Amino acid sequence: MYLIFRCDCGRAMYAKEGVATRKCVCGKTIKVKTRRIFKKAEDAEAASEMVRELQEEKYGGSFFTTADNIKKKR
Ligand SMILES: [Zn+2]
Repeated sequence: MYLIFRCDCGRAMYAKEGVATRKCVCGKTIKVKTRRIFKKAEDAEAASEMVRELQEEKYGGSFFTTADNIKKKR
């Protein structure tokens, strides 16, 4: 099972269940247990798809750019 959550910077990300921490592209290390879990996914593919949808909600575009590009724009 994969857990989908957001960093404080707003970026959606996922981690495999049982993983303690996950590093965001903004540089912050997220303790997975302390985050509010938005969704769960059966596998990494489904998890990345959910993250993509959450990113689109946040940034309002219909296309998905890479995390690096989002970071550069901000
Ligand atoms: Zn972040």
